[in-house]
Amino acid sequence: MNIVNPATEEIIATLREDNGASLNQKFETLKKAQKDWAKQGLPERIRIILHFYNLLETEKETLAAILTAEVGKPLQQSRNEISGAQTRIQWMLNNAEKYLSEEQVIETGNLKEITSYDPLGVICNISAWNYPYLVGVNVFIPALLAGNAVMYKPSEYASLTGLEIEKLLKRAGMPEQVFQVALGARETGELLLDLDFDGYFFTGSYRTGHHIYQRVATKMVPCQLELGGKDPLYVADDIKDIAAVAAGTADGAFYNNGQSCCAVERIYVHEKVYDEYISYFTKEVKSWKIGLPTEEGVYIGAITRKEQLAVLSKQVEDALNNGAVLLNGGKQIAGKGYNFEPTVLVNVSNGMKVMQEESFGPIIGIMKVKDDTEAIRLMQETEYGLTAAVYTENPDRAQHILSQIDSGTGYWNCCDRVSAGVPWSGRKHSGIGATLSHQGLRAFTKPKAWHLRSS
Ligand code: NAD
Repeated sequence: MNIVNPATEEIIATLREDNGASLNQKFETLKKAQKDWAKQGLPERIRIILHFYNLLETEKETLAAILTAEVGKPLQQSRNEISGAQTRIQWMLNNAEKYLSEEQVIETGNLKEITSYDPLGVICNISAWNYPYLVGVNVFIPALLAGNAVMYKPSEYASLTGLEIEKLLKRAGMPEQVFQVALGARETGELLLDLDFDGYFFTGSYRTGHHIYQRVATKMVPCQLELGGKDPLYVADDIKDIAAVAAGTADGAFYNNGQSCCAVERIYVHEKVYDEYISYFTKEVKSWKIGLPTEEGVYIGAITRKEQLAVLSKQVEDALNNGAVLLNGGKQIAGKGYNFEPTVLVNVSNGMKVMQEESFGPIIGIMKVKDDTEAIRLMQETEYGLTAAVYTENPDRAQHILSQIDSGTGYWNCCDRVSAGVPWSGRKHSGIGATLSHQGLRAFTKPKAWHLRSS
């Protein structure tokens, strides 16, 4: 398997993919090791993960360089991602004892009722490439803390990072056999679905997630899916600082080249502030430095997957054929690397591909609306339900709008953010189950009720 730098199109490494035999062997190893890992006790597991957290700090520059080389995101964004992952790990470490230890629910007379949280066993984590540290730690850190062994399949576009994570966990003191990396693409994923894991935790596209859910259904084990989105954002007519809102929301749409599951993918703007918003928004987009992700100050680097260039071009073509107007960008950038101009389309309608299909790239459609009712209707017209954002000076107005949107996350005057203390979950085609928060810690456990009566 060749690893290609998307910014230079150079092969930067060649790795050996796993096959049926090697995966079987890793699976058996995990099964044997899991019981001892669970017996080690939570304080010891916390100690090892804390060491891993510290290693992320000391190795940050090297890890960021590897990440940028394989996914094409600007170096500063790679550093930010690792720091963000550390923040999440810190929250998990601070809260593991509270949410993973047994709880005494009732003690009356000679009766005690207790809930304990047992590990699932050996879990399979099939992951995505866009934020390999962030989406990875959402799963494997709480899984390990809870006493599970983990088969981690990084995306084929983030394999080097997957191997670095494995190396650091082992350096941190994780027993060799408790965390194994499965290398490869779809075929490797399919082989993992054949094995009898005690839980499947997937981050990726709706298409793959839907397939995995069906494939593992008969195993009767937990299957969590964190999938894509077509996240809407509404700018109401009462916002005061239009320039700041335009700049902040542009960042929400284009950070990491729009390759975020919670990137702003559709913008609706009240007609009273529309012209001014558009003018500040395009000014912001035109100000960004485009170039090699290793260059200082670059905001738009390479996109990770070559295939996505055609998807983006088709969305632009479909929009323009149906009456949209291009205010910036619109095409692939010539030369080496998978680069696409940051693209702003207006006069769009909800029937267009750019307003319905997940773009997962540097492209946004912006639409004028006459009032909140129209905005709510348009925001709701989607098969996805990951996040939704509203910008207004009025908290009641935001609450009223967001409560009518069927999404796992609602943002008032912010967007494109994830926080460890609250659940991260998708509705409809955006997923099933939750990571992060206490729910995300317990997602890797099975609760057991103890009814204890002393005679
Ligand atoms: P993908 O579905 O193409 O691949 C995800 C993983 O599944 C990869 O490791 C891949 O090798 C594996 N895979 C592919 N086919 C498989 C099969 N048949 N059986 C088993 N495994 C298989 O997604 P991607 O391109 O890596 O990631 C982008 C998608 O992920 C976007 O839709 C994005 O919105 C979503 N995403 C969601 C979240 C979230 O938290 N909701 C976070 C990050 C990314």
